Amino acid sequence: MEYNSYYANCLLCPRRCGANRLGKVNDTAGSPGFCGENAGLRLASASVHRGEEPPITGSGGSGAIFVSGCNLGCVFCQNHQISRRGMGRAVSPAEFAEICLALQNRGAGNINIVTGSHAVPAIAKGLDAARIAGLRIPALWNTSAYESAEALELLRSRIDMYLPDLKTLDKGLAGRFFRAPGYPEAAAAAILKMMEYRPGQVIIRHLLLPGCLESTREVLRWFAKNSRGRALFSLMTQYTPVESPVLDKSPDPPARFVSKKEYETAVGWLEEFGIEDGFCQELVTDSGWLPDFNRANPFSSELSTPVWHWLEGFIP
Ligand code: SF4
Repeated sequence: MEYNSYYANCLLCPRRCGANRLGKVNDTAGSPGFCGENAGLRLASASVHRGEEPPITGSGGSGAIFVSGCNLGCVFCQNHQISRRGMGRAVSPAEFAEICLALQNRGAGNINIVTGSHAVPAIAKGLDAARIAGLRIPALWNTSAYESAEALELLRSRIDMYLPDLKTLDKGLAGRFFRAPGYPEAAAAAILKMMEYRPGQVIIRHLLLPGCLESTREVLRWFAKNSRGRALFSLMTQYTPVESPVLDKSPDPPARFVSKKEYETAVGWLEEFGIEDGFCQELVTDSGWLPDFNRANPFSSELSTPVWHWLEGFIP
């Protein structure tokens, strides 16, 4: 299938909007669906990142590429500047390849593509161009896991490791926070596929949500049943209340950080479910780490070295 045809009646992700993201004039003139993006691939930032799990950060850092737009749209999104507010700039497959090579040249151990589910065909083209141009390091797919089987099939031969979230298995919470009550079913199916495609090369991330501990327990139970020995588990605590005028705050997302008691309860459950292989983030209780994509380096200098920015271009 010609890549652009995926965008003509877009059923790329489980939202299945049917939007014509192509338009009549050229491949960037179409009407965005829920993800907010037409057929052009837009990026916000690329940097050598040192804040991922140890095997991903490695010794040289991870080459994180932040894609603009998002097909899930969590109401508490920490990257809302780029996921919902439009920050970013269109790049061609050749420019995407150049960015990958710049990350490789700066010592990144991998290319870590963040939240690109709505742009899979364009990213596939970009990765192909990058391989032809000399990209040798592995490609990682860092995703909410709100993916279709078709999109995963397109990625199959191009992605070496998967970093899916399993945000919740509670349809009520998924409806409330993502307007996607089908998220649990879609994400579970997508993660099972990822483990089939790359056994042992999957890290399942779960962000603790304040006041939603039962959802975490359900996720841990699912992991213990379906993934133990086939994937690692990463418990994340960095939920941070964000203020954004454009996010749909109805109903309001949790307005506080994860409490020490919630954290300790979840860590205790890891033991109860026999989940030993993986990672557990220290409790985060301030917003100092939140990115600002207006800056050439959206993160702190300890956490990341910028290589490309949507306003600045390549950063020497
Ligand atoms: S990728 Fe975007 S337009 Fe396509 S189905 Fe998903 S949300 Fe809708």
